[in-house]
Amino acid sequence: MLTFAPGPSKVYDALPTYLQDAYNAGILSANHRSSAFMNLYQETEQLMREKLHMPDDYRLLFTSSATENWEIITQSIVEKASFHIYSGSFGKKWIGFAKHINPATDGLKIEANEAINVAELDIPAGFDVIALTQNETANATEVPLEVIEEIKEKYPEKMIAVDTTSSMAGIELDFSLADIWYASVQKCFGLPAGLGILILSPRAVEKCERKGEKGRYNSLSFILENAAGYQTHYTPNVLGIYLLNRVLKDLEEVQHIDANLRERMLKLETAVAQSKSLRMLVDNAETRSKTVLAVSGSEELIVSVKKDAEKEGMQLGSGYGPHKPTSFRIANFPAITNAEMDKLIAFLGRY
Ligand SMILES: *Cc1c(COP(=O)(O)O)cnc(C)c1O
Repeated sequence: MLTFAPGPSKVYDALPTYLQDAYNAGILSANHRSSAFMNLYQETEQLMREKLHMPDDYRLLFTSSATENWEIITQSIVEKASFHIYSGSFGKKWIGFAKHINPATDGLKIEANEAINVAELDIPAGFDVIALTQNETANATEVPLEVIEEIKEKYPEKMIAVDTTSSMAGIELDFSLADIWYASVQKCFGLPAGLGILILSPRAVEKCERKGEKGRYNSLSFILENAAGYQTHYTPNVLGIYLLNRVLKDLEEVQHIDANLRERMLKLETAVAQSKSLRMLVDNAETRSKTVLAVSGSEELIVSVKKDAEKEGMQLGSGYGPHKPTSFRIANFPAITNAEMDKLIAFLGRY
């Protein structure tokens, strides 16, 4: 069964080879303080620069999930409070975790079809971090990079943290627009779940040092201390890191992946726009995601489309939260081939 679910999602077809190679290379039994592991870490960080254009002075850190990164950011970087601008369930969970750790956390909830109005944005001095969910997987919306740039220009003294869990390694990100970026590997990286990625600018590292939070197993100061020698703060998911390394090695540079995904999304959107009974959940093209499409219809229709798709060997992603019964989601992730996407597009043409 080919899955179009937006996470966990289809893994790259080369995965069986990577897994066998990991075993044969002996890396799975390598100590995480050994040079074999340290070289793997260093090479993976370099590949993030070459393939995804992570800046030379930004650091790649390994955590267990995007969810863990929510807590690390509040615990170890935020000095006053974070201000969250969000429209969907993942952004809402993030602010929830942040509030639990720091009650001064606040934010602005916007609608899926609503673009962030940067001119009217008023974030008081009591907030030192702005939290954005660049790609909101739950309702298939995005905050375009141009909007992040406007926010950065308006608030140069604040730090921006960006959730790109379902867009990193799919769309081309301009890392210079923010100091904190994170993802996990079971979305656009096309890998099995269980590894979180946290990327920090030198300014974010300095902020962490200034705050001086320490003593927890995932205190960022402790993570950075280990990362300085290409080691990790606990025995890491070496298999996950190895797989990430292999996927990055085989990846085209991100601008080519980005161009292909945009072209495919346009085809998908056209198929839905031309359908008699299906609609796009997000009408506003400005806020619509490039890597996840949500399609809505009556409850009966959604049930039958999902059933018909399964008969053709395709599993559609369920709707999320309040949209669950009246929508489905399609991952436009790079591990799905163009031929597979064309098959889905032809299928949607029936409705
Ligand atoms: C999937 C997802 C998460 C959670 O990722 P985990 O790896 O399960 O912690 C967070 N944010 C967004 C936008 C997501 O799509």
